[in-house]
Amino acid sequence: MIDNITDKKEIVVGVDIGGTNTVIGIVDLSNNILLENSFKTYPEKGVDNFFERLTIIIKEAYNKLEDKYVLTSIGLAAPGANYIKGTIESSVNLKWGNVNISKMMKKYFDIPVAILNDADAAAVGEYSLGVAQKMKNFIVLTLGTGLGSGIFVDGHLMNGENGLAGELGHIIIEQEGRECTCGRNGCLETYVSAAGIKRSVSYFLSVLNLESELKNISFNELTSKKVSELALNKDPVALKVFNYTGEILGKALANIVTIFNPEAIILFGGLADADELLLNPTTFYFEKNLLNFYKGKVRILKSGLQNGKAAVYGACEFAKESMVKNMINV
Ligand SMILES: [Zn+2]
Repeated sequence: MIDNITDKKEIVVGVDIGGTNTVIGIVDLSNNILLENSFKTYPEKGVDNFFERLTIIIKEAYNKLEDKYVLTSIGLAAPGANYIKGTIESSVNLKWGNVNISKMMKKYFDIPVAILNDADAAAVGEYSLGVAQKMKNFIVLTLGTGLGSGIFVDGHLMNGENGLAGELGHIIIEQEGRECTCGRNGCLETYVSAAGIKRSVSYFLSVLNLESELKNISFNELTSKKVSELALNKDPVALKVFNYTGEILGKALANIVTIFNPEAIILFGGLADADELLLNPTTFYFEKNLLNFYKGKVRILKSGLQNGKAAVYGACEFAKESMVKNMINV
């Protein structure tokens, strides 16, 4: 006897489109993880090529499960995504210009597709499966090439009037400061991000007369991971860079707390994995600069989900919520 569709369990697909890698995850409605996969994004091959490959990978994954499950919706997380319009808008990492993802996916799938910003997805992922479960007010910072943020206020993801709320990476913290990809100067992410760490290395090498292995590495070869390795080996310039980055981040977060009064701030992404190198100075300068009545009340935590997974499960959760709340893009 062939199973009736109602005998099958519903599942959703979450996709986290990154500048380098794309991660997909499939979960059922109880958040049991059924399948995970990742592949190279190759954004330079163009948007059509990407969505053709993504479609094949989703369909191959679903083929393994369709005896027992039915795919009901897809959630896509991407940098620069706008959930209201269903678009990716000129992401610096993807360089696809303005793309209507809803339309692209409709060519291949006849089910609802929900889209959200990758930092918002990371926040939803922490809320559903990570360290922010049961929290109503928290902020997730994604520390990668840039600095993204997703903000929960009173139990809801903050979207804003145009779906563009929470661009904390572009708070100006230094007048006439470093040039930013947004075209302005002095944004937080020009200091607090993997790219910002590299720029701080160049700065401190030029103004400090200290012995450092960093002198032997060219700017193009340098990675924030290398800087953290050297800092763990007590390289004085690398340590100075992490202390400086933590000071800037801690002060900025102390200001941000006055607006949102969060229970916790969660650091997620490659730079957040730099052990306590970033967490310790950030927490120190955060507490030092907090308004008195917040002191000791706001925790700074690391992501509760393995690297790269918070956003993909946030995308799954968003796909489910979209079914329920009818916030459907397609
Ligand atoms: Zn900026």
